[in-house]
Amino acid sequence: MAVPGKGLIDGLKVTAKTLGRRSVTEQYPDVQPELPPRTRGVIALMEENCTSCMLCARECPSWCIYIDSHTETAPSVGEQARERSRNVLDRFAIDFSLCMYCGICIEACPFDALFWSPEFEYAETELRNLTHEKDRLRDWMWTVPAPQPIDPGPSVIEADPAQAGPAQEGQAEPGGEE
Ligand code: SF4
Ligand code: SF4
Repeated sequence: MAVPGKGLIDGLKVTAKTLGRRSVTEQYPDVQPELPPRTRGVIALMEENCTSCMLCARECPSWCIYIDSHTETAPSVGEQARERSRNVLDRFAIDFSLCMYCGICIEACPFDALFWSPEFEYAETELRNLTHEKDRLRDWMWTVPAPQPIDPGPSVIEADPAQAGPAQEGQAEPGGEE
């Protein structure tokens, strides 16, 4: 037979148990979360550095980078000099509905034209709006934080020669004859 008020007492017990615990709930969007410095939010394009080399698009495992460019010829500078040609970027777009945030494009770019920005508030109700064209990708550059200092890495432990055992038979001494 059900005891009257048992449910209420059980509920109050749970409340009492959790009352002293630290809350893990983030009050987003009223309070912005504190993200780690190397957060992968969105990819920003430094258009001025891009040479339309296509390396990022070729390396992208999701095939979600779209690049169009054309070649322009610049007039020669001196009498003996040849005409020069350069690539002009017509389109650079990333489809973030396909992107898996692996960072390969950023690693592959030899001209430092792609960067991670921690911005993540670009959800859309239309899937096609997740394709960011070059102007929007350029605007993300304003949200890219300054580079983090290089990690010092593990400290090098010097080997103690007294602790090292004798060389095994058949094992070459370092610097010895083979
Ligand atoms: S992060 Fe990865 S999946 Fe996204 S565009 Fe770059 S290479 Fe492609
Ligand atoms: S790899 Fe870099 S320079 Fe080459 S097309 Fe991509 S963003 Fe531009």
